[in-house]
Amino acid sequence: MRVDLDDYVSGATLATELVNTAPGVWHGEDQLDGVPALTRFLVEHGVATDHEPTVDDLEAVRALRAPVREAIEAGERPDGQADVAALAGALVARAGGPPSLTRDDGGRWRWSVAPRPDATLAERLALLAGVGLLGVVRVLDADRFRDCASPTCSGVFVDTSRAGRRRYCMPELCGNRAHVAAHRERRRAGMRERKER
Ligand SMILES: [Zn+2]
Repeated sequence: MRVDLDDYVSGATLATELVNTAPGVWHGEDQLDGVPALTRFLVEHGVATDHEPTVDDLEAVRALRAPVREAIEAGERPDGQADVAALAGALVARAGGPPSLTRDDGGRWRWSVAPRPDATLAERLALLAGVGLLGVVRVLDADRFRDCASPTCSGVFVDTSRAGRRRYCMPELCGNRAHVAAHRERRRAGMRERKER
């Protein structure tokens, strides 16, 4: 695994989707509720591992969500860019080896960083997320770190779209009116049930 320092989109996407698996973001449940869920997450993000994730990996990846969210939330504050850089730099340092400059298949020079050989799965994910967040600070405008606009969601996200007008942490879920309405209806039904008891 090598992390291309110019590819901030995949790392920032991973950072967003990782923090939004946390309990309380989407309908309250932890989306990383077991090793199979973690394996799916890794496959979705093209993260190769040399072993099947373990329960220890799962715990460590769950724990990684708080510092990644902290870095994104720092970016929501005016003048928070330096804080994002510091917090994301610390994430990179968990696993990152020295940077290297190598030619790609097209002969172009690419900056990249590889995890140290002994880095754990969670540390590798920290490296990926950290590189993504650093790239966003370096390349994009200052307002790319945001809260989800859905009233039923407490997610945060990094907008790496070209136009920079994204409003939801999980556009296909939080931006979907039918889902939001169904969620509200379930909540109302839940409240009625509690009152009737
Ligand atoms: Zn959301």
